Amino acid sequence: MKLDILVFAAHPDDAELACGGTIIKHTSNGFKVGVIDLTKGELGTRGSDKIRLKEAEAASEIMNLTLRENLGFDDGFFLNDDLHKKVLIEKIRKYRPDIILTNAPSDRHPDHGRAAQLTIDSCFLSGLEKIDTNQKLWRPKAIYHYIQFNNLNPDFVVDITTHFEQKIDAVKSYKSQFFNPKSKENNTIISSKDFFDSIEYRAKDLGRQTACDFAEGFISHQLPKLDFLNNFK
Ligand SMILES: [Zn+2]
Repeated sequence: MKLDILVFAAHPDDAELACGGTIIKHTSNGFKVGVIDLTKGELGTRGSDKIRLKEAEAASEIMNLTLRENLGFDDGFFLNDDLHKKVLIEKIRKYRPDIILTNAPSDRHPDHGRAAQLTIDSCFLSGLEKIDTNQKLWRPKAIYHYIQFNNLNPDFVVDITTHFEQKIDAVKSYKSQFFNPKSKENNTIISSKDFFDSIEYRAKDLGRQTACDFAEGFISHQLPKLDFLNNFK
């Protein structure tokens, strides 16, 4: 099976939070999108790995994903080393995506930057003949970082105005993680009301700057190329 877009995420919920609207926009328009979470988020203060997996399933349905997998790497401790790269190379060669989305190059959670570099390295290595995995070579055409906790400057945005509500529904699937006044678990930064509100105010602010209601920002790993100068709406 060939995917149009493959999203790598350090933790279940990274993809929904940072690029859920973009994913939903593409699946709603016929693109095949898959998400591969590297870890089960088992070190999260709230919830558990089992709960997170169930929540990810619910979010995957809302986003209409072609596939969702979990690699079961160690949350907080996975490395960007030969073993982990090989696992990603096999996934990239298996699903042959044109576009890769990955975590922010640096972020509050150190797993995010490490996941991003692991993804970049694996995409390059996946195109090398002498790395033999009994699969055909594949190198994605583009890698884009989604922006999550820290306010990094995007290189471009995707207008998600018509899919913003669905994105919020996907994020709300993670009942154990985010703002929930009924929860009896310990509070965390991401379970605060302010964090939940930030999803909307950031999308609105990026929309304000680009003449739409809601947008998600991305950082391009490679030099972005336009076909014509009017490549915008
Ligand atoms: Zn994360």
